[in-house]
Amino acid sequence: MNIILIGPPGAGKGTQAALLENKFNLKQLSTGDMLRREVASKSKIGQEAESVMKSGGLMPDPIMLKIIADRIEQPDCEYGFILDGFPRTLVQAEGLDELLNRKAKKIDFVINFEVESEILIKRIAGRFTCANCGAGYNDYFKMPKAADKCDQCGGDKFIRRNDDSEATLRERLTLFNAQTAQLIPYYKNRGVLHSINGMDNFSHVTEQIMAIFAAV
Ligand code: AMP
Repeated sequence: MNIILIGPPGAGKGTQAALLENKFNLKQLSTGDMLRREVASKSKIGQEAESVMKSGGLMPDPIMLKIIADRIEQPDCEYGFILDGFPRTLVQAEGLDELLNRKAKKIDFVINFEVESEILIKRIAGRFTCANCGAGYNDYFKMPKAADKCDQCGGDKFIRRNDDSEATLRERLTLFNAQTAQLIPYYKNRGVLHSINGMDNFSHVTEQIMAIFAAV
């Protein structure tokens, strides 16, 4: 089973993908995470990605298609994958279809997370994680119980992604609306698009996704 999660930044795609990965033995492929690893390793792609990501722009389609083509060849994608953050443009969607056709594979479900922009801005601009254990927090929705101490491990250092500022986020949302939103009619025409209310709480979002799988 191959799945695409579509939704603006902060819609909760990554969290749901992690759950689906375990439940169905699929591999979560987050292009944002892959690019962040390239940045950390200071590779050639990483150097380009660093400035693109800081500006809130998009990496070139051919680079992203190559990254995904190489990645889905790996044995851990044998039972299927969950794409999180890819495709983001029509060119990427068409390239992905060609790629999968050549391997006699297809996309089975595209889950579209619908979330209001103002809620997203709070979700993203406010989010931070414990530097020690990775536990997630948010300035608006979930502060640590004791000031400056992680609830889970007691750590006192926290990190914020450097592309999470409000200005960057507004740029990313504009881009999402301009480019990624075109994917919705594209996948609707293919009969694989399912929209869910991404503003529901975590377990209700999961229930909506499970109901989609069960109905097919
Ligand atoms: P994300 O973690 O999915 O929000 O991605 C973080 C950043 O990585 C994006 O704002 C883009 O700059 C870049 N990026 C991730 N996936 C893609 C993609 N499929 N195409 C182009 N750029 C991407």
